[in-house]
Amino acid sequence: MADTPTGGEEFRQAIVARFECARCGACCKGDGIVRFSSPELERMCAALGVRRRYFLKNFAARLDSREWILRDRFVTGPPGFTEREQWCIFLERHPDGRHGCRLDGAKPAQCHAFPYDWINPDSCQTCAGLRLLVADFKLEK
Ligand code: SF4
Ligand code: SF4
Repeated sequence: MADTPTGGEEFRQAIVARFECARCGACCKGDGIVRFSSPELERMCAALGVRRRYFLKNFAARLDSREWILRDRFVTGPPGFTEREQWCIFLERHPDGRHGCRLDGAKPAQCHAFPYDWINPDSCQTCAGLRLLVADFKLEK
C-alpha cells in the first residue's frame, strides 16, 4: 500500500475497520489499468451472460501479447463540466449522482481490494471515502 497522509499501520487498520465507500467513482476513472485472471473472466462473462469471445472483443483491451485488461471509455463529466473523463467500461453513473459497477459481485479482485489492500499515492485526495476517514482520523489524534 502506498504511504498515506496519516501513514502507518494504525491508519491501515482504520481503513479495514471503518472505510465506507461514498460511490464517487474516482477509483474507476483515470488511466489506471484493471487486470483480471482467467477465472475472473469466467465470472464476469457469467454475470453479464456473454461468451468469452464477446467479452474480450467488447469489454477488454490487450495490455501485451499475453495479458488483457478491462477497456476504458470516455464519458462527458458531471453537469457543468465539458471535459470528457476516462472511465472503466463498467462504471455507471446513477441518477442520484452516485456511481456503481455493472459487474457488481463479479468485479475483479483488484477492484475488491481497493482501498483495503492497496491505494495510490493520491488516493487520500481522490477517494471521497478515504478523505472522510483521513479527516476523522486526524480529529481523533
Ligand atoms: S470493474 Fe467495476 S469496480 Fe472495477 S474499475 Fe471497473 S467499474 Fe470500477
Ligand atoms: S474512490 Fe473511494 S469512495 Fe469513490 S467509489 Fe472508489 S472506493 Fe468508493
